[in-house]
Amino acid sequence: MKTLYDKYRRRISTATTQLGCLCMHQRFFKNGGEISSDNISIDSIFISRGEADRTAVVISGTHGLEGPIGAEFQLRLLNKLAADYSDVMPEGVNILLIFALNPWGFKYGERTNEDNIDLNRNAFSKALDTDSSDHELILDVLLPDEWSDQAGANLLARVRDLGLEKFKQIFSQGQYKYPDSLFFGGTEESWNITTLRNIVEFYLGESKKAVVLDVHTGLGERAEGVILSPAFPEEIGLRARTVATFGDCCQFPNTESSISSKISGDILSGIMRWKPGIEFLPVALEIGVLPVKDSVERLVRANWVRQNRNKVSDNFYRQSKRDLWGAFFPEGDQEWMEESIEACFGSYSLLLNWLVDE
Ligand SMILES: [Zn+2]
Repeated sequence: MKTLYDKYRRRISTATTQLGCLCMHQRFFKNGGEISSDNISIDSIFISRGEADRTAVVISGTHGLEGPIGAEFQLRLLNKLAADYSDVMPEGVNILLIFALNPWGFKYGERTNEDNIDLNRNAFSKALDTDSSDHELILDVLLPDEWSDQAGANLLARVRDLGLEKFKQIFSQGQYKYPDSLFFGGTEESWNITTLRNIVEFYLGESKKAVVLDVHTGLGERAEGVILSPAFPEEIGLRARTVATFGDCCQFPNTESSISSKISGDILSGIMRWKPGIEFLPVALEIGVLPVKDSVERLVRANWVRQNRNKVSDNFYRQSKRDLWGAFFPEGDQEWMEESIEACFGSYSLLLNWLVDE
C-alpha cells in the first residue's frame, strides 16, 4: 500500500526533475547505499543558480508523522521554482530542502524513528547535554503495566499534582535513560542526525548566512503557526534578529515560558554548532492541530501500545495509531492544510527578507 510518505516522495522527485541541472537530488539510506525493504530514505534537494553565499534550508518530517505539511510546502516551493524563481529564490540565494528527516516515522505514522528516538532531542553534543530530566517522576504513568481508563485517569492526576507547566517540562524536555518511554533522545547519534549533519556540512560549506525553517505540527492553536526559536538567554544576537524578523509572534522555549518546553538536543542548535562560521537564523514553525491535553493522552497511549504490542488487540492498535496521526495531521481537512501552507510561506518569506538583507 502506498503511504503518504511514498506519495510525497514520488511527487517531490518528479518536481525536482522539472528543474533539471539547477537541482541536485540525493537519497540517503540507513545502511550506507543499501535500499532497505521499507524503501525509505532521507532526501536532500539542493537548488543553485551558481555563485551564492546564502542558503535557505527547509526541513520536513523531523517528527515523522508531522511530515505531510512540511512535504506539501516543499513540493509547492519546487513547483513555484519551476514556474518563476524570483519570488522564492532571489539572486545570490541557494535553497536546500531536506525531505523526511525521519522517513520511517513519516511512513508508519510515528513521531520518533525506528529506534523510538526523538530526533529533535538527538542532535546533542556529549559535552553540552546531560540528562537533567526528572523523568522518573512520571515514568509510572507513562508506562503502566496495563492500559485502561484508570491509566488515563492516573496520567491526568499526575498532571494536576505536578502542575501543567512542570509536567510539560518533565514530559517533553528530552530524556536519555528510558528507550521505551517518550521524548527519548537516544544514547548515540542516530543515522538520521548523522545524515543531517553530513548534508548540512556539505551544502552549507560556502555559505556566510543561512536560514533554517523546520516545519512541525501538533502544538498551539488549530491551524495557527507559531515561530519557536532555539536561542538560549546568552545568544543575544540570535534572539535580536529573530525578534526583528518575526516580531511578537515568536517564542523562546529555552529562555522563557512558551507553548513548548525547554528542550535538549534540538536539531537547530545542532546545525548552528556544526557550522560555527555561518550567521544563522533558524526557527521551528509549529502549527496547531488539537488541544494539548488531547495530544498528550494520544501520545502516551500510542507509545504504550508500541511498547506493549503483544498485549493489545489489532483493533486497539489501529485505533491508537489513527488517534496519534489525528493529533498531528488532520488528513482530509483542506482548510487546515491551506492555512498551514500559508503559515509556511509567510515564515519563509520573512526568513528570506533577512537572508538577502546586507
Ligand atoms: Zn514536532
